[in-house]
Amino acid sequence: MKKWVYFFGAGKAEGDGEWRDVLGGKGAGLAEMTKIGLPVPAGFTISTEACDYFYKNGKKYPAELAKQVKDNVAKLEKVTKKKLGDPNNPLLVSVRSGSARSMPGMMETILNLGLTDKSVKGLAGATKNERFAYDAYRRFVQMYSTVVMGLSKEDLEHRLRDMKQRRGVKNDTDVPADGWKELVAEYKAYFKEKAGNDFPDDPMEQLWGAIGAVFGSWTAEKAVTYRRVEKITGLLGTAVNVVQMVFGNTGDNSGTGVCFTRDPSSGEKVFYGDYLTNAQGEDVVAGIRTPVHLTELAKIMPKAYAQLEKVRVTLERHYKDMQDMEFTIEEGKLYMLQTRTGKRTPAATFKIAMDMANEKLIAKEEAVLRVKPEDIERLFYPVIDAKFDKKTLQEKILTHGIDAVPGAAVGKVCLSAADAEERAKNGEKVILVRRETSPEDVGGMAVAQGILTATGGKTSHAAVVARGWGKCCIVGAESLDIDYNSKSMKDGKTGKTVKEGEWLTLDGSEGVVYVDQLTLVTPEFPKAYQTIMRWADDIRRLGVRTNADTPQDARKAIEFGAEGIGLCRTEHMFFTDFEFPEKSHERQRAIQEMILAETKENRVKALDKLLPFQRRDFIGIFKAMDGFPVTIRLIDPPLHEFVPHDRKKQEELAKELGISADTVARRVEQLHEANPMLGHRGCRLSITYPEILEMQVRAIIEAAIECQKNKVKVLPEIMIPLTLDRKELAILTDATRRVADGLLKKAAVKLPYLVGTMIELPRAALLANEIAEVAEFFSFGTNDLTQTTMGLSRDDAGRFLPDYVDEKKAGVFHGDPFQTLDTKGVGMLIEWGIEKGRSTRPKLKVGICGEHGGDADSVKFCHQVGMDYVSASPFRVPISRLAAAQAVVEERKAKGKKK
Ligand code: PEP
Ligand code: MG
Repeated sequence: MKKWVYFFGAGKAEGDGEWRDVLGGKGAGLAEMTKIGLPVPAGFTISTEACDYFYKNGKKYPAELAKQVKDNVAKLEKVTKKKLGDPNNPLLVSVRSGSARSMPGMMETILNLGLTDKSVKGLAGATKNERFAYDAYRRFVQMYSTVVMGLSKEDLEHRLRDMKQRRGVKNDTDVPADGWKELVAEYKAYFKEKAGNDFPDDPMEQLWGAIGAVFGSWTAEKAVTYRRVEKITGLLGTAVNVVQMVFGNTGDNSGTGVCFTRDPSSGEKVFYGDYLTNAQGEDVVAGIRTPVHLTELAKIMPKAYAQLEKVRVTLERHYKDMQDMEFTIEEGKLYMLQTRTGKRTPAATFKIAMDMANEKLIAKEEAVLRVKPEDIERLFYPVIDAKFDKKTLQEKILTHGIDAVPGAAVGKVCLSAADAEERAKNGEKVILVRRETSPEDVGGMAVAQGILTATGGKTSHAAVVARGWGKCCIVGAESLDIDYNSKSMKDGKTGKTVKEGEWLTLDGSEGVVYVDQLTLVTPEFPKAYQTIMRWADDIRRLGVRTNADTPQDARKAIEFGAEGIGLCRTEHMFFTDFEFPEKSHERQRAIQEMILAETKENRVKALDKLLPFQRRDFIGIFKAMDGFPVTIRLIDPPLHEFVPHDRKKQEELAKELGISADTVARRVEQLHEANPMLGHRGCRLSITYPEILEMQVRAIIEAAIECQKNKVKVLPEIMIPLTLDRKELAILTDATRRVADGLLKKAAVKLPYLVGTMIELPRAALLANEIAEVAEFFSFGTNDLTQTTMGLSRDDAGRFLPDYVDEKKAGVFHGDPFQTLDTKGVGMLIEWGIEKGRSTRPKLKVGICGEHGGDADSVKFCHQVGMDYVSASPFRVPISRLAAAQAVVEERKAKGKKK
């Protein structure tokens, strides 16, 4: 018989901490904590497989489930020595969701289940606290009504407010037992009116209602949105955890909290968390009351704190990662309710991985695996420009809050998630401001630059979600009065008012909110980043180069750890002079003159004007690369890209060149192509106009000679684009060598250089063995290779590709093939090309210079197929370095498993 339910309690667990897929993260954590002897209330987990079955079978439960649940309830009653619905000392349970991946607050929870008109008296008697018992009862009826029956939260809340008003009390804690009794009766009447039947008085009926609601919440819109934003796919569903209730709200000797084994913002090894006296867990997570720091708990309840500190150490040693734990203290006794790998900021990811490796808790290789490409991307949080002095900043302060996630953000205020999404769609930068965020708001949070809430602590929903995304977030700005009706907010302390649509700047590192749009800057890399990247560099086999066209880019790339240039697109040099911008015009005219020339003689004359510009750029690049190899690609794009298409600009050009405007127009017309991407471009240009190749090779080699004379080591690699045939390439490499060797001989200089090709067309990949007879290296231009293999235009695909990627629509691809390599199709040509190429030339140097060279998954593929290096844009170089190291570690792990 298939097992759908797993019990844990009294030091034993049927499940295992490794079974996250089956038990969900929460269930696995509870099982594991029980096994290692931590104080965990007993309970059982209904597996995610049951949820999967439920959805695959028209929302029906597996046949065996009813009996297994019944047996487990009996077992739970035995272990706890209490009975569900008992009129004396009843067992109460919580029913919680939990899938294999954490989805904070996205799915449902029901607490205090098992309370009925009879058992509530038992609870009151056993705890000698009637007020507490009826408070628990009303909470349960409230949760059950909204979560299971879907009744209006607002309708219930307003009954609560009315009752408090009638009795003249302000805080919930001041409501006497009678008040709660009265409210329970009101809630139940409302329930009957809306649901058409009485509130269930049978705990087992209640339990099944709750199980159904938890399964149902798996496909609730907020949960589906969260999975989409987080790219979570392939899960079976949610598990259901039914756990004995322990109470943090029995009085001042009780409480509840959320804590992290290390600081999730900075990564520092300090115990970090929030605690609320006399409260239930949901109060902390929902951020309704503002909690105190854990250090306060040490003062209030030193014994329980000491126990918690011990648990912290045990759990970290056990899981070898930072944990995020929920706990409750009931009458001074500690219970652990949850542990999971804690979400953290990117800076904390680096720090924790580094520290744990230094503490020998994990290996360096493991530390490298812990960092994700997004962590690098998000590491360099922007901060407010230091040019703003203290006084200016002081004057702009709107309010203060709790610094939940560091970094700064600028955007226009949106007071609802829907508005935020709307504005972001129109390309505006937005800051989402809410009294508190709820999981419904995830769509708006995802598009916002930053998030600000008036309530909540560092572990509130807003903070947890934002941290996971590395998104600037400030919570608990309590003096802020947000008015959703008038779409404005006013701060009670500074008296300033901001309306929706006005600019706001958040400083998430300090917890300060400023009016206006302040400029932001990106800071230096933290120390842990450098260390982890050094470890990654020690591990990786792949070289990492950069795509850079200017000395500036080249220098930036060196800072990011590039080991050479894999692609210098020389045509990018034709338009702008980055060192002397005032000379840009002169360059442009020279290239245009070359294009418009109708005789070879005139073309050469124009090319002679371009030569010094290109040579100077190459000198700058060689110097920046200081001995690293530099691959320079000869002209690639179709010529029409360089000439003006509108009449006015054509007239200007004609005037400057001393020719007629009609001549310019005619030549532009001649250059027109229906599909320039497959037309007269790439090496085809050098076949028709060999003088262009001659000028470019001359510029490269003359620059190299000059650098070498000045003791700068140079390793030029001249690259021919868009090759499709051996003979075509042979003509061009011969021409290249003729020019290069001639110059070297004349200068009496010895200088090694290579001549190779890009592999950008399927034919070139297929015939790579022939091409490699001529080419000394290959560089896969996967931008063009993707478009030519798939028959998808890289310029137009944006119009229909979203439907191809959207799982809810066609879902043909997992991702954009221009971003992440299509390893199945394009990858097959790459593998073939490498194998064939090396069959002719065993030491053939192979790299990639398409955008994929900066995409982590694609880099891992490049490692697997035996490339020598990848080349990425400067800012993505660190991602490629990390991914290249991870590829090695993952390969070793896979090998270890096979053995
Ligand atoms: C490529 O096609 O992958 C490539 C690097 O060249 P470009 O993007 O300049 O066409
Ligand atoms: Mg290309």
